Amino acid sequence: MPSLFNTRRQFMKNTAAASLGLVTLPSLLLAQKNNPPGNKKIICLGGHPDDPESGCGGTLAKLQKAGNDITIIYLTTGEAGIPGKTHDEAAAIRKQEAINACKVLNAKPVFTGQIDGDSVCNNEWVSRIQQLIADEKPDIVFTHWPLDRHKDHQVASLLTIQSWLRLPQTFSLYFFEVCTGEQTLIFHPTDYVDITDTQEQKKKAVYCHVSQDPPGIYNCGHAAMEDFRGRELGVKAGEGFVRMSGKLQGGMGF
Ligand SMILES: [Zn+2]
Repeated sequence: MPSLFNTRRQFMKNTAAASLGLVTLPSLLLAQKNNPPGNKKIICLGGHPDDPESGCGGTLAKLQKAGNDITIIYLTTGEAGIPGKTHDEAAAIRKQEAINACKVLNAKPVFTGQIDGDSVCNNEWVSRIQQLIADEKPDIVFTHWPLDRHKDHQVASLLTIQSWLRLPQTFSLYFFEVCTGEQTLIFHPTDYVDITDTQEQKKKAVYCHVSQDPPGIYNCGHAAMEDFRGRELGVKAGEGFVRMSGKLQGGMGF
């Protein structure tokens, strides 16, 4: 089996992160092989129901199996995502689908109440997301890569980045990809996770989003992405991430 530290450079980087007291994704996953379960807190913040599941569902399932607590925060409830349905009707359907997906992943769902297609990043929402993340006391946070064609994905990413910058940086931040090429852009992973063992569990979670044409989600790139990231790592299926590096002081807030 290939190491999760797939390059010497990555090993050095994660060693440096560990020396700062940060929990890294590889160290957390490696811990399950040699040490007791993690008991760490993991947050994944996505723009819509189905984004966390398709972007990093295999990794979330793997982290949960290793003994870590998973919380999935949905910025919007996908109100605009079902043609022919009102926002209220679509939100009710998609909220239940997200709850079902979280059951498959043994994750806790949280809905912030922003509106699909009309998401905002302002001071009020930075404070709200910052507080939400702080209350969870996470060790690792996942969110969208900020370069993405979908504005809601960008807003989810920016709100999370601003929260990370403003909070004591005791947690690591990783970006995931969704429908790369069609949505996520210019994404070059720094870290990979072998999801061979949890690929089917991930698929079950994605398939809970019945209203979103799950086969279409896989055909629009996710099957190829799992295969390609797996090839890069040397395993059957993988997920790729970009790790926010450095310990920035002072913040970059407005
Ligand atoms: Zn989305």
